[in-house]
Amino acid sequence: MTTGAGSPVAESPELHALRTEVRTFLNEQLAALTFVPAVDNWMSGFDPEFSARLGQQGWLGMTLPAAYGGHDRSPVERFVVTEELLAHGAPVAAHWIADRQMAPGILANGTEEQKQRYLPGIAAGTLFFAIGMSEPEAGSDLAAVRTRALPHDDGSWTLNGTKVWTTGAHLAHAMVLLARSDGDAGDRQTGLSQFLVDLSHPDIEVRPLRSIDGEAHFNEVIFHDARVGPEALLGRRGEGWTQVMRELAFERSGPERYLSTMPLLRAWAAELRRSGATEEQRITLGTLTAQAWALRRMSLSVAAELAGGRRPDVRAAMVKDLGSAFEGDLVEAVRAACATDPRRTGDDPFARMLADSMLHIPAFTLRGGTNEILRGIVARGMGLR
Ligand SMILES: Cc1cc2nc3c(=O)[nH]c(=O)nc-3n(C[C@H](O)[C@H](O)[C@H](O)COP(=O)(O)OP(=O)(O)OC[C@H]3O[C@@H](n4cnc5c(N)ncnc54)[C@H](O)[C@@H]3O)c2cc1C
Repeated sequence: MTTGAGSPVAESPELHALRTEVRTFLNEQLAALTFVPAVDNWMSGFDPEFSARLGQQGWLGMTLPAAYGGHDRSPVERFVVTEELLAHGAPVAAHWIADRQMAPGILANGTEEQKQRYLPGIAAGTLFFAIGMSEPEAGSDLAAVRTRALPHDDGSWTLNGTKVWTTGAHLAHAMVLLARSDGDAGDRQTGLSQFLVDLSHPDIEVRPLRSIDGEAHFNEVIFHDARVGPEALLGRRGEGWTQVMRELAFERSGPERYLSTMPLLRAWAAELRRSGATEEQRITLGTLTAQAWALRRMSLSVAAELAGGRRPDVRAAMVKDLGSAFEGDLVEAVRAACATDPRRTGDDPFARMLADSMLHIPAFTLRGGTNEILRGIVARGMGLR
């Protein structure tokens, strides 16, 4: 498969070989029944053993330097690996946040001690992170963050406040926390700092929240005067907003923003190959595949921008807006065109996957920033206020 001759993101023989290697590995894992393909498995498929296996393959921390356990590979190589994992519905949730944004975030802003402490575990697939940005009164309006980091003379901090919708905090080892270190909520984007906090801390309470599918993927996380040392501060005091915005480019731009439901499309295509397809089903399958291909080109171009050291924030917002809407549209289109009733129980894996897909739809256009907010970013990128 190539992405077009002369394209800056054309798939070279090396990339193609990497893709083949990942596919072979995943097919072996499927044959060994180490996982069952599922939609949205980058959020809900928490499997530490599978993550460690990927670490052993050298497919985590790919863009990190070897000095920190990484593999000195490019964002486009990482893209190829993540794309295959997502399309196969592999259980990658345990390491996803750590590998996607904490690896580059700590590399860019961390002290040498923080890099040594966290990066090798991330690359090995044994150290998992949660993101502590959102709060009950600060979601879209993230600058309204009220969680307080009170500084002490010895450089330590006392953390107080509540985070919410914190994916995987009940299972992760650590959290990156956005808190107000200076001033008050009226100061908005100034006075915010980031902290790396171990979630085993006795004064941090993690309360799982159940979502519509009955599973607990995210949490409320409460800081009860949690004292942390000076080494918890990530980057510069007061620079939290700028650091978080850079992190969000990684959080929003990846192929998980249009591939969450791709395992359903693949499963449906397999069903149609077995049963035969009507004209209408062929058209639906072809239309969805063409849309996915266009989104893939957009997402790849963001990976290429990151590889070039640029900041593709506006393009990342576009990919997430279009891609996350596509993830839900795909489910609705397959549901309308297929001959199967969605069922969460029973022995038809396709009916179960269809039902699970439907229950995940509401999350797609919310998590990582809602589509309304992303459209605002795109409009501002066009010079509009
Ligand atoms: C599955 C899932 C996982 C998540 N995981 C995490 C996580 O790990 N860590 C974390 O920190 N957060 C996480 N979140 C939180 C997510 O980032 C927020 O839900 C999101 O930013 C929206 O914030 P909110 O829920 O407070 O909604 P609100 O900000 O209250 O928005 C409500 C509605 O109003 C609209 N709206 C708000 N402001 C504007 C505006 N200015 N213009 C137009 N429309 C507007 C929004 O688009 C939305 O439709 C997760 C959310 C979900 C659903």
